[in-house]
Amino acid sequence: MFRTRLKAVAVAACLSACATSAAETRSAPDGQAVITAPKNKYDPKDDVKLGREAAQEVEKELPVMRDEQVNAYLNSIGRRLANQIPSEFRHPEFQYTFTAVNLREINAFALPGGPMYVNRGMIEKARNEGEVAGVMAHELSHVALRHGTAQATKATPYAVGQVAGQILGAIVGGGWGQVISQGSQFGLGAAFLRYSREYEKQADLLGTHIMANAGYDPRDMANVFRTIQQEGGSGAPQWLSSHPDPGNRYNYINQEAANLRVAQATRDTREFQNVQGRLRSMSPAPSAEDVARNSKAGRTTGGDNRPVTGNVPRPDSRYQTYNEGDVFRISVPANWRELGSANSVTFAPDGAYGTVDGSSVFTHGVQVGMARHESHDLNSATDELIQSLQQGNPQLRRQSNYDRGTIGGRQGLRTTLTNVSEATRGQEVIELYTTLLSDGALFYAAGVAPRDEYSGYRDVFSRVIGSIRFTR
Ligand SMILES: [Zn+2]
Repeated sequence: MFRTRLKAVAVAACLSACATSAAETRSAPDGQAVITAPKNKYDPKDDVKLGREAAQEVEKELPVMRDEQVNAYLNSIGRRLANQIPSEFRHPEFQYTFTAVNLREINAFALPGGPMYVNRGMIEKARNEGEVAGVMAHELSHVALRHGTAQATKATPYAVGQVAGQILGAIVGGGWGQVISQGSQFGLGAAFLRYSREYEKQADLLGTHIMANAGYDPRDMANVFRTIQQEGGSGAPQWLSSHPDPGNRYNYINQEAANLRVAQATRDTREFQNVQGRLRSMSPAPSAEDVARNSKAGRTTGGDNRPVTGNVPRPDSRYQTYNEGDVFRISVPANWRELGSANSVTFAPDGAYGTVDGSSVFTHGVQVGMARHESHDLNSATDELIQSLQQGNPQLRRQSNYDRGTIGGRQGLRTTLTNVSEATRGQEVIELYTTLLSDGALFYAAGVAPRDEYSGYRDVFSRVIGSIRFTR
């Protein structure tokens, strides 16, 4: 059962230029970085709406804390920072809210339009209030610069997925997807669920300005990021995977801090000591994995999707052609259905697909999609895709080297993978084809069949994948 977490993933096809293009920051004469918000085709009202929808999901999935003292404390820091957002990045419709989450990992994330969530582990591990403010200023900057919807603006829409789903996915990449996916219900996600390094640097730099204006020392931001980096275990990877280090982070934050004047910066406060003491005296916060596991155990499979019945009709010998957005055309057996999502489209027969624990799964069929990556060549982009697939499919193994192949007339790679279905314990075979599109996005097609039926599907896969034509 090939698992892809369709719900929380977006087509955030990172143009190959986006990782390397000059950061949208220049130095003003006073040495301070000049920050320009990235291009965004959405209205700020969209940010608010999407953030609100995502917040509802978050509050269903995550153990938010109702502790008044803790939330009031986060609010006081948050307001102080939000009041210093430079006027050009203020959006009157945004509403900044700050909520503690009862999770152990050092993590925080913010949704478009303003809702921010800070893990208890973050507050417990911080050395002082300045460090908490540093993480919050960084998250606040992603919101003010509208990075979630900017990411969706860059995305290459091609599937039938709704725009909202795409944006939500891209944003949820800011952290929530990571948090709830720890339990393994997580497929393609890792490739999408993160801001680009360019956005990271912007959020760092704007964050230092906001901190300084609010009377915090931006060097505390550099310090807390260094702690997260060095921490390695216990949740730090979550934060780092959604907020990748643009390189030299500690140094450039400190350099920027040197250009900013902060008299009498707030570092340690009695309120911080009180709140931290209060949290540390509570029974330890659960890990995200514990929470995901428990919510999985307590949840019944959603009834709105057809179950995987295992009763799968043979592929029809007649084929039907689908046009996917303005990106490609594909022909599949006429008895396969088209299952669109924001980041991919899956063609599968009845009985071969469904939802398990909130993840979309299929046992027979072909999935075609695009993945964002940070690689410069097809081989390593394909490696990256396989690694992210392995997060949702821990038993996924590559069985062959990459062969040269073609897909839609483009040079590509082909490889065979095997996987063990978590549900049936059965072996399955996955034929994976990849190519880089002209905008740098990784395009993939994966044929999936149970091992003992694979010989009957091999020709179907070649025919389906051979039918792909790019249309732009
Ligand atoms: Zn970030």
